[in-house]
Amino acid sequence: MKYKEYHAPASLSEAQNLLRCAGEAGIVIAGATSHPFLGGKDPRIAVDLHRAGLAGICPDQQAFVIGAMTTVAALETFRARGWVLDRVARRFVSQQIRNQSTLGGNLVRVFPWSDFPVALIALEASFVIAGESARSLNTDDYFATQPAKHFAIGDVLKCIHVPILREGQGFGYQKITRVQADFSQMTVAVRLTVAKHQVTDARVVVGAGLPMPTRLSHIEEAVIGKPATERQLRSAAENPLGEKRPRTVAGMSPEYVQQLARVAVGDALMEAAAEAQGAAS
Ligand SMILES: Cc1cc2nc3c(=O)[nH]c(=O)nc-3n(C[C@H](O)[C@H](O)[C@H](O)COP(=O)(O)OP(=O)(O)OC[C@H]3O[C@@H](n4cnc5c(N)ncnc54)[C@H](O)[C@@H]3O)c2cc1C
Repeated sequence: MKYKEYHAPASLSEAQNLLRCAGEAGIVIAGATSHPFLGGKDPRIAVDLHRAGLAGICPDQQAFVIGAMTTVAALETFRARGWVLDRVARRFVSQQIRNQSTLGGNLVRVFPWSDFPVALIALEASFVIAGESARSLNTDDYFATQPAKHFAIGDVLKCIHVPILREGQGFGYQKITRVQADFSQMTVAVRLTVAKHQVTDARVVVGAGLPMPTRLSHIEEAVIGKPATERQLRSAAENPLGEKRPRTVAGMSPEYVQQLARVAVGDALMEAAAEAQGAAS
């Protein structure tokens, strides 16, 4: 991608004004790591958000409020009760890309290998977009389409609210790659709520093995109201993708993708159940 102009505004409102003036030629720059994957021959007017004050993690009563420009490296090193995104960040490609890539950049343009959309659907995050006025979208609406389609000219993803994991809840995250820095073949995130050894709520999400991150409602229904035992959880993961068409790349057959999903969903359910019942993750 080529730029014909570069701007580094010192505030969000200045960034939005620049983007409105630039029109279709404008492009937000966060970590710029997606640029090798994005097409387009026309030179763009780049609006870099690094000085716009959108980085940082603030816990409030119910959720962590994460600025869109927070890097994946910062998510990895942050620690607080009910915080689990360090576990997702640790599996994110390489230290160089964790240093550069931002949470917002990972969530505006979703690729099949994107990690955080899978995790944040499981965690029921919500998304604040600064436009003419600020608006908030819940997870299901935000990811109902390629999220970039929600953004009009001048809109900027401002922050993400990620609910704090409560007592009795556990998170599981599994990602299968051939080598650490490879693109994911299968990404799974699970949040389970368990009371008296019974699952009372479940969110099970698969990415990479399907074209876009997708909730597996048949697995959620199969575990809710049942004991959180290994036998029960693994049997719920027996036919993980159901009738959905697996994404087959790099010579993988549909059966192979199903088998990856069976293992990763089973392991993520087990990880979440153990944490929900008090075992250290
Ligand atoms: C070799 C390589 C391997 C990778 N592997 C993985 C992987 O395994 N898993 C994974 O999850 N990611 C991976 N990534 C990163 C991923 O593909 C994206 O490149 C990255 O998440 C984008 O983040 P960024 O901060 O660099 O955003 P940018 O590239 O700067 O922006 C991405 C898009 O979002 C828009 N945008 C960014 N921020 C905002 C905002 N606040 N408001 C409005 N629009 C915005 C930009 O205009 C652009 O269209 C990899 C990248 C590389 C280069």
